[in-house]
Amino acid sequence: MRSKIVAGNWKMNKTYNEMEILLAELSAKVPDTEAEIMVAPTFVNLPRAFKMLESSVIEPIAQNMHFAESGAYTGEVSADMLLGIGIETVILGHSERRSVFGETDEILAKKTIAALEKNLRVVFCFGEELEDRKSGNHFNIVDNQLKDGLFNLRPEVWSNIVLAYEPVWAIGTGETASPEQAQEMHAFIRKTISNEYDDNIAENVSILYGGSVKPGNATEIFSKPDVDGGLIGGASLNTDDFIAIIKAI
Ligand code: PEP
Repeated sequence: MRSKIVAGNWKMNKTYNEMEILLAELSAKVPDTEAEIMVAPTFVNLPRAFKMLESSVIEPIAQNMHFAESGAYTGEVSADMLLGIGIETVILGHSERRSVFGETDEILAKKTIAALEKNLRVVFCFGEELEDRKSGNHFNIVDNQLKDGLFNLRPEVWSNIVLAYEPVWAIGTGETASPEQAQEMHAFIRKTISNEYDDNIAENVSILYGGSVKPGNATEIFSKPDVDGGLIGGASLNTDDFIAIIKAI
């Protein structure tokens, strides 16, 4: 049975003090839910987030990591470093990592293997650009991202993977995929995984939708059968909006 998940990606937002305020508010207001709730603060704030969330249902997760164990990688963070401060889940392949920091499917495949080898859970992001959607190439793009990023993995490790379909044209733009477009792509993703692996893996992997999810559209998007929750950017920075989105799941 796959989990419902709502995860907030805070990106390069919130100073130490601002994060403390947001986390205190979220912890106080988070509703009882069977869904898993996650937030991803910036690296430097993760130890404090971990401490503040020790007795909370909210899980602090990382936004990224490097594939190497350690070494001459200035500015990078390893899986062991995350585990050392109690972090158990990492986001990989966010579109900003791909487009701004040049992370390729090949790099992301290496990162995913490195994280899974250390028993970290991976929230793996992917999705097409606007031109791909306009030209009708979106299924091909997503198919390739899955193949190149994940389909070299052993079946056993899929229980530690969460997928986040995030059409790039909907991230931070205020434009969201329609619930039907999200459902259509999520069903395609599940079928592609079933063809490559089997029904069991396909049915048990959580597939989150990301791209301008707000309190006003969350209920409809989350109501689709293959949408298992959301990866939320902008709206997760505001307590009331994020709580409303959690309530929608
Ligand atoms: C994201 O960055 O993963 C995201 C979905 O952002 P937003 O919700 O702001 O579109």
